Amino acid sequence: MIEITALTKSYGTTTVLDGIDLVVEEGQIAAVVGPSGAGKSTLARCINLLERPTSGAIAVNGQDLTRLSRRDLREARRQIGTVFQSANLLRRLTAAQNVALPMRHAGLPEQEVRRRVGDLLERVGMVHRANHYPSQLSGGQRQRIGIARGLALQPAVLLSDEATSGLDPESTRAILDLLTELRDDLGVTILVITHEMDVVRSIADLVAQLDHGRIVEQGTVADVVRRS
Ligand code: ADP
Ligand code: ADP
Repeated sequence: MIEITALTKSYGTTTVLDGIDLVVEEGQIAAVVGPSGAGKSTLARCINLLERPTSGAIAVNGQDLTRLSRRDLREARRQIGTVFQSANLLRRLTAAQNVALPMRHAGLPEQEVRRRVGDLLERVGMVHRANHYPSQLSGGQRQRIGIARGLALQPAVLLSDEATSGLDPESTRAILDLLTELRDDLGVTILVITHEMDVVRSIADLVAQLDHGRIVEQGTVADVVRRS
């Protein structure tokens, strides 16, 4: 489903990602963990196509996203939904408008937008907060809206980039439960990038430990915890 092969990213002479190989099967929750500076955000930005890798391939459903023309890139981006740290919502838009934004940019008919926004708000348990602004929501609620927006264009992969950093343990737990539910209900493949090992322990089918731009351990949670 998502297959990363020999991925490298360098800035000048600094190699930040040094030959990443990672395969995540459809409907799996995979986690990339590692200390600060390991290269996690860089990997996230390569996967959601905010940056172009120096070499290597990132294939989603067999299509290599690193070899696309500018025109095809736009379409390919829809395959990856991202949930950012602190949700990154636009503060002048309501929760519903934030969720609607990617669909409006994609030119979906308003009737379809309304239907999908309603469905997504329902899925993330935020129907009662549809018309609230981000400042009127808790951190966990903002992240629920961030997840709904990440799913707006029905991506094959949902990428969670430190989405629970800064949340208290209870809100973190609730967000992880929600991700598991979405995986089960929608069959979406989820890639969680985090510096918190505790976050992945309960939900990940597969854990890859990143250090100095390389994957130094890969396996089930039990495997990786036992060895580290
Ligand atoms: P993490 O998210 O795991 O903390 P990052 O991907 O942010 O790691 O960074 C990994 C390494 O790459 C760090 O040493 C960082 O300084 C370096 N780095 C990240 N972005 C750039 C950049 N645009 N130019 C140069 N070095 C960078
Ligand atoms: P706008 O003036 O930008 O249309 P709205 O808040 O009315 O602002 O709507 C934003 C988007 O979210 C629209 O696509 C609308 O259909 C949808 N929307 C707003 N509130 C809800 C809701 N409670 N349930 C479902 N969809 C909603």
